[in-house]
Amino acid sequence: MSPQPFNSRFHVINSVRRAGTISRVELVETTGLSAGSISNITRELVDHGILQEVREATEGRGRPRMALSINAQAATLAGMLLRPNGVVDVQITNLLGEALHTEHYPLASALEGEALADALADCLRRAVAATNWNLARPCAAGIGMFGTVASAAGILHWLPPGRPHPVPLQAMLESRLAIPVFIDNDANLIARSECWRVPEEAIGKRHFIQIGLGIGLSNTWEGTIQNGGRGINPEFGHVKSSIAAGLDCPCGGTGCLCLVASLWGIVSRDADSVHEPVTGHADILGRFEALAARARKGDGAATALFEQAGTALGLALANMANISNPDGATVIVEHEAWIELSGPAFHAALTANLLPFLGADFPVAVRCDDLELHPLGAIAMVQERLFQRDPLPDWS
Ligand SMILES: [Zn+2]
Repeated sequence: MSPQPFNSRFHVINSVRRAGTISRVELVETTGLSAGSISNITRELVDHGILQEVREATEGRGRPRMALSINAQAATLAGMLLRPNGVVDVQITNLLGEALHTEHYPLASALEGEALADALADCLRRAVAATNWNLARPCAAGIGMFGTVASAAGILHWLPPGRPHPVPLQAMLESRLAIPVFIDNDANLIARSECWRVPEEAIGKRHFIQIGLGIGLSNTWEGTIQNGGRGINPEFGHVKSSIAAGLDCPCGGTGCLCLVASLWGIVSRDADSVHEPVTGHADILGRFEALAARARKGDGAATALFEQAGTALGLALANMANISNPDGATVIVEHEAWIELSGPAFHAALTANLLPFLGADFPVAVRCDDLELHPLGAIAMVQERLFQRDPLPDWS
């Protein structure tokens, strides 16, 4: 499957959203589309209520200039995220992605199949009810989760710690909620939230790596998210690392990167933890913080675990970048202690293993995750899907 940039219609919508208010003439310059295309596309979007005409005051006595903006109130959308700690974030937004209402619901336990679909649908119904019906019912919903997802097909293939098997989760949710629903892997949503305010050409070809309990990856090409040949999100956490050689992975393989470089991997290798199986997200974070405290006090074994995590990730990213030759990479980390204690080894291994003509000025940013941004990625996915397909939703 060759990479596809956004279609012209969605490119126009994004350009209007980023500009706030923009004239058709300016849209021709911004998008590179012809005046005729801009005229046709904007007419369709105004007719469907997605864009609105606004009168811009002009200096002097000239006629007021007509410009376009997003009709933010045309529809409400729901962005949801199922986190590894079992909490479902639900955010209801307007068309500009501005949050109108936010809720967080813990799920009872690790759920699968019909029970998972029931629980997710219930979370959205409860969030809408909690608005006291001050808001219009969401017209569509996007849901991200920490598993392996074939997003375009709407199939959830694996939600750890369960066993991998395909579930048509999108169809199950649409039958329960009676609105369009789209699903994707959480790393792809995080990347979309990072890209929301940035023009596609400025994002270009980029690797967004997410370090949390596991390791996620989202790849962009011309600013759009690219999944693999079978439509499945990339699983960077399961590339092989010599540091993880011989360690068993929940994916069924051995030697996977996530076993040494993720928060869960670092904690699981700690000798103090080896004989006490980790019992969940809070337990892992608690142990991770205790291990970080030991490393800061100079504990050699703890320091080595953090350094090996950084080295393994730096080498893996260098290997990938040497093949893909991206414009840059962004590493988004759930806990700042990883940046502090694994970051130096990560940068050293990356620099040492990038090819010389990539290495000197390869742009890599490492920063802490902003959890509040994730539902915006789900909203971005909903718009990407809804606005690129026919027929367009009619909110006029
Ligand atoms: Zn694995």
